[in-house]
Order: sequence, then C-alpha cells, then structure tokens
Amino acid sequence: MSENAIEIRGLEKTYAGRKGEPAKPALTGIDLDIPAGSVFGLLGPNGAGKSTLINILAGLVVKSAGQVTIWGFDQDVNPRQSRAAIGVMPQELNLDPFFAPRAALEVQAGLYGVPKSKRRSDEILRLVGLEDKADAYARTLSGGMRRRLLLAKALVHHPHVLVLDEPTAGVDIELRQMLWENVRRLNDEGMTIILTTHYLEEAEEMCDEIAIINRGSLVARDTTANLLGRLDGKTMVIEPNDTPKRLPEADGIEVQTRPDGTLALTYNSSQMPAETVLAAVRDAGIHIRDVRTEQADLQDVFLELTRSR
Ligand code: ADP
Ligand code: MG
Repeated sequence: MSENAIEIRGLEKTYAGRKGEPAKPALTGIDLDIPAGSVFGLLGPNGAGKSTLINILAGLVVKSAGQVTIWGFDQDVNPRQSRAAIGVMPQELNLDPFFAPRAALEVQAGLYGVPKSKRRSDEILRLVGLEDKADAYARTLSGGMRRRLLLAKALVHHPHVLVLDEPTAGVDIELRQMLWENVRRLNDEGMTIILTTHYLEEAEEMCDEIAIINRGSLVARDTTANLLGRLDGKTMVIEPNDTPKRLPEADGIEVQTRPDGTLALTYNSSQMPAETVLAAVRDAGIHIRDVRTEQADLQDVFLELTRSR
C-alpha cells in the first residue's frame, strides 16, 4: 500500500447525451491523490461532478477514461479488491423497502462476501443509533433513519475508505452530529474518510485536506489550513497610473492583473504588513493612482475559484 488511499489519473466521464442533446462531459481529466488516514473534503457547486467522481470510485458509474486506484488496487486490474476497500454512502436514498435494517445489512454483507462469523450487524446498528429499529419495516423509517441505514450499509465490509456523498444535506442537527461523531471515531480508528458537502464551514471543521471541483475539473487542492490561509488573505487592489512594465514580486504576495487594469495583490495580513505590499509595488516602478483593500472570506474565494469562465 502506498501512502495514498486513492489515486486518480486522467479521469474522464461523459454521460450519453439525452435525446437530441449533445453529450456533455461531467469530468474532464481529474488527477487527484487522497492520503490514507485523512478526512478529505470534495467541494463544488451543484452539477460540478462530485457524485460522478464518487460513483466511479464506488463502481456504480463506468468511467470514460483514466485510471482509478483504491488502496493500491487498480479498478480495472483488480476490481474485486478495489471494491472491497471502499464503502459508499450515496447521496440518494436508494433503499430496498422490503428489508428491515438488520436484514438489509445481512444482505449487503452477503453481497460483499463477508462470512457470517465476521458480520457485526448489531454493532453497526448500534453505532448509527438504529438498534431499536433493527427489525422495523423499512417503510416505517424516517428520512433520517434511512440515512443512518445507508451509512450502516457502507460499513458492513469493514472498508479502508468510507465515502459520504452530501451526508448532511437537509438533515436535522441531531443526525448531523451523529454523523460527525461517527466520522471522527472511524477516522481515529484509521479509516480514510472522503466526503462531499457544499457547506464550507463543515468542510473547514471536519477536513484535513480539500479539493474543489467545478465543471468537471479540479480548481484547487490543498490542506484545509493552507486553503484557509488563502481565505484569510487580504487583497490590495492597486490602480496604477500607467500600464505596469513589470509586476511586483515578493514572497507571500500573489499578483493578478484584472480585466479592468487593476492589480490585485493577495497576501496574508496576519503575516505581512500592508507596508511590505506597497513597497513591492513601488519597487516594480509602479505609481499608485488609487488603492483599496478587499477582505476575502470563505464564500468569496469559493466563488472566485468556481466562477464560470
Ligand atoms: P454534483 O454531485 O457535483 O452535483 P453530478 O456528478 O451529480 O454533480 O453531475 C455532474 C454533471 O453530470 C451534471 O451536469 C449532471 O447533470 C450530469 N449527470 C449526472 N448524472 C447523470 C446521468 N446519469 N446521466 C446524464 N447526465 C448526468
Ligand atoms: Mg452530487
């Protein structure tokens, strides 16, 4: 096993186009490593391709091109082992209404070839708080309980990697807490966790590393700490007197020329005084006509990264 739980290379997916419509790519060449033992967040707006990516990992969607390696097993070379290494809690509530929770777990365990002696359905039901409902008709389960059951199903074969697709979208606070407690505990026990969410604060709180995808491609990939450093950053916007002959250069300052001719200098205001930024501008021979600052927040940077081009 390498240090990565998941390795993705050149991953592409184009769904067959609906009648009369051209096929539109959902993933356009993703390269991504997900470190073993991490809680990894996959962020992106609706339609970005998050579920497509996850469903390919889960073996539920067939990729169009590229390579996926799960726990060291290439999906195309060792499909059985790569499937056994991963458990997925899908976004949709796709449960069989005829199975009570305990029975559903037994069926799932059977599908994954878990021998009877190694099954621990009751333990898993307890973990997700469904022990009282073990034999209840599935149709009597509330939406929240169904979600718990989906999590339980993802765990029956003791996967190394647990994937949760929008686990907290539209769930109540109690269930959200239960989910996060479980995620933390399973991660402490060594399980790699991948989750998608569009709640930025949630990602900030839960994830060690974050990838942001938009329109089927990766637009950012960093540790949460680094991303937040970027997010905590301040931007100084300079309107130069003339078109600059060269751009300011200094460690810790990111310079961007905006379409309106202004220069946006992003820096970490807790680590660098504005004076240093201004000095870098002057050193580049730029005369300042006007200057203002922008304080980036989480939402801004996310929008910036996922803005349609
Ligand atoms: P996300 O989970 O980030 O919201 P999805 O992976 O669900 O994004 O969708 C990515 C794109 O692929 C969207 O444009 C969506 O309409 C399209 N798509 C998803 N599933 C299918 C499908 N089964 N058939 C055709 N198009 C699909
Ligand atoms: Mg989705």
